[in-house]
Amino acid sequence: MSQKINAVRGMHDCLPSEIGYWQMIEGHLRTLFSEYGYTEIRTPMMEETRLFTRSIGEVTDIVEKEMYTFPDQNDQISLSLRPEMTASIVRAGIQHGLFYNQVQKLWQIGPAFRYERPQKGRYRQFHQADVEVFGIETPDADAEMLAMLARFWKRLGIENEVKLEINSMGTTESRKVYREKLIAYFEQYQDILDEDCKRRLYTNPLRILDSKNPELNEVIAKAPKLLDYLEPESKAHFELLCQQLDILGIEYVVNPRIVRGMDYYTRTVFEWTTTKLGAQGTVCGGGRYDKMVEELGGRATPAIGFGMGMERLILLCQACDVMAPEYLPLVTTVFLGDRASLEGLRLTEEIRSALPAITILANLGGGSMKSQMKKADRSGAKYALIMGDNELDEGVIILKDLRENGEQKAIAHSDLISYLQNNLLS
Ligand code: ATP
Ligand code: MG
Repeated sequence: MSQKINAVRGMHDCLPSEIGYWQMIEGHLRTLFSEYGYTEIRTPMMEETRLFTRSIGEVTDIVEKEMYTFPDQNDQISLSLRPEMTASIVRAGIQHGLFYNQVQKLWQIGPAFRYERPQKGRYRQFHQADVEVFGIETPDADAEMLAMLARFWKRLGIENEVKLEINSMGTTESRKVYREKLIAYFEQYQDILDEDCKRRLYTNPLRILDSKNPELNEVIAKAPKLLDYLEPESKAHFELLCQQLDILGIEYVVNPRIVRGMDYYTRTVFEWTTTKLGAQGTVCGGGRYDKMVEELGGRATPAIGFGMGMERLILLCQACDVMAPEYLPLVTTVFLGDRASLEGLRLTEEIRSALPAITILANLGGGSMKSQMKKADRSGAKYALIMGDNELDEGVIILKDLRENGEQKAIAHSDLISYLQNNLLS
């Protein structure tokens, strides 16, 4: 036997047994997005590396250690698999002039790639549902986005399992002042900071707030808060958002430690977290990035968006016993003998043409009556259409109820379509 080849570590097949969750969640999302006036965009899975380094920031986990980066065939440019989708959507919008004097509400669902240590809820290929709004500066865009997410959790029935945490990152200017305060504060604790934090103290001190190291909890909790250093406009923006969330009845906690893993955020940032998934508890995260379009060469355009981790959401649904619908065929077939099998093949296609709503899992491959009936039972179908050469000669086909009472009825071929329509589709 030849040696078998497995999938790359941290990259998973999505098997038929799990696909129901994906389809259910994607279905809810598509419906919701269109209810809120969003349209779909699809961007390439690979971009020039500099798109990500410039937007996400050099001193971030993603750019420092998580990107799949390699030279293109001709070695001229460095390419990376997308670690997230926002930068790609901004690039596409600038490239195709989508941001001139118009509001854009866009969504995309697809894979993203990060070189991380694989564990539950953390993979090297994972999937995100990503949503972006361009061209609105006021917090009503932020509030509407959070309301849409609150509605989504409700539709899934997991609204009590997720918690909204919000914060404001202010502007680049307010962050400069705060940065100095933060450096001065953490300098007092150099001896207890871990290597990552020490390294970031002077390059990206805000990232220390994001540290998952439990030994730093207390020091971080007492650190100066960016909310106390906001300039008046950002402060007013944040206060109005809070008012809007209040009037919508959306519960939230203000958490000054939410600073997110990318440099591009300004003002509103948020995370929806759960306690059901251990350390990988952030199901959805996002915020404003009012400067990015300009920094990537477009005309100044305010923007806000989020990324939702699909695998984590599915784990959460499973942990909460949310069932994915199981799609079973309505009808299966049992044909015996060469002549009946040939006519059965034709009749099956005739039903599919006339009544596409009747899902048919035909029994391909023949077999004895006993083995075909066993397969029919296992198929999950509610009814079996049964025909042997005798029935064929009489011009009938038998419809058997496989689930309720085993009742069966001989139907003339000429009445078959109207009988199925009246009795199976009512
Ligand atoms: P974390 O703090 O868990 O590393 P993050 O801040 O790096 O998350 P974002 O960049 O905000 O994550 O991505 C948005 C969402 O994508 C996350 O909230 C999470 O649900 C999901 N996600 C991020 N990285 C992974 C991964 N490696 N595997 C699975 N899902 C992921
Ligand atoms: Mg991460």
